[in-house]
Amino acid sequence: MAARLLDGRAVAAAVTAEVAEAAARFREAHGRPPGLEVVLVGEDPASQVYVRNKERAAAKAGLRGAVHRLPASTKQAELLALLARLSADDAVDGILVQLPLPAGLDELETTDAIDPAKDVDGLHPLNAGALVAGRPGLFPCTPRGCMRLLAETGLDLAGKRALVVGRSNLVGKPIALMLLGAHATVTMAHSRTRDLAERVREADVVVAAIGRPRMIAGDAIAPGAVVIDVGINRLADGTLCGDVDFERARERAGWITPVPGGVGPMTIAMLLSNTVEAAFARAR
Ligand code: NDP
Repeated sequence: MAARLLDGRAVAAAVTAEVAEAAARFREAHGRPPGLEVVLVGEDPASQVYVRNKERAAAKAGLRGAVHRLPASTKQAELLALLARLSADDAVDGILVQLPLPAGLDELETTDAIDPAKDVDGLHPLNAGALVAGRPGLFPCTPRGCMRLLAETGLDLAGKRALVVGRSNLVGKPIALMLLGAHATVTMAHSRTRDLAERVREADVVVAAIGRPRMIAGDAIAPGAVVIDVGINRLADGTLCGDVDFERARERAGWITPVPGGVGPMTIAMLLSNTVEAAFARAR
C-alpha cells in the first residue's frame, strides 16, 4: 500500500493560523504586535528568496517584520553593532541572521551576539544547551517542523527506533535530541557511518538531512516506517528532490513527506511560532 503523504503546506497553514491568533492575543495584551527582525548580508540569490518568503509570511501572520539588507562588504563590527541594537530594543522579539554569511564574517561570533531570548533560529549556545539539557528555550525551526509533521501521524514515538542521517547543528543534532525527548531510541548517522542501508532497514522513523539527491534507497525503508525528508536538492533539469528515493520509498513507508511541499514549508511556519513564543516569554 502506498504511504500516506505528510502535507507540509497544509500543516504549515494550520500552524500559521495558530500563530496569527496568538499574535492577535499578544497585540491586544501588549499594545503592539510581536516583532521579527531579519538580517540579510550580501546578495546570495537563494538567501534573498528565503528572506522575502519570511517577510511575507510574518506579515500574513500579523507580526511586525523588518528586514535589514546589508552589503556584502559589511564589517563584522557593524553587524555586531546592529545585533546589539536589536537585542536591546524592547519592541523586537525575534532576531534572525540569514546564513550563510559572506566570506570574512564570522558566523559563530554573529549567532553568539543575538540575545538568546530573541534567538528564533535556536542557534545560540544557550538555547542549544537548553535543548541538550531538556530545558525550555528557543529551538531550531526545521527540526521543530519535523516534530510537528511527526505529530500529524498520531504515532507515539516512545520506544520507536529513529534514525537521523546528518549531524548538522541546524538540523541533524537538534532533531535527534527532540526525538530523544519524545522517548524514541535514536541512532545518528553521518558520512562516516558504515552499513547505512542496514541502519535504515531497522528504523521505524527515518529523518534524512544530508543534502544528497535520493541517497536513501527506497528499498531499504522498513514497511510502515515514517520518512521525514529534510533534503532539498536541485537537479540539473531545475527540479527539486529530497534525500530519499521518494517513488520507491512511498511504496513501503507508512507515512512520507514529499519534496517540495513537506518539511520546507514547515520551517517558516515554525519561525513565526518561535517569534510569538519569544514575545510571550519576554513579556512574562
Ligand atoms: P550539512 O551539509 O550541514 O550536513 C549534512 C550532513 O549529512 C552532515 O552531517 C554529513 O555528515 C551528512 N552526510 C553527508 N554525506 C553523507 C553520506 N554519504 N552518508 C551519510 N551522511 C552523510 O546540511 P544541513 O543539515 O544544513 O542540511 C541538510 C539538507 O537539508 C540539505 O539538503 C539542506 O538544503 C536541507 N535543509 C532543508 C531545510 C528545509 O527547510 N526543508 C532547512 C535546512 C536544511 P558529516 O557530518 O560526517 O560530514
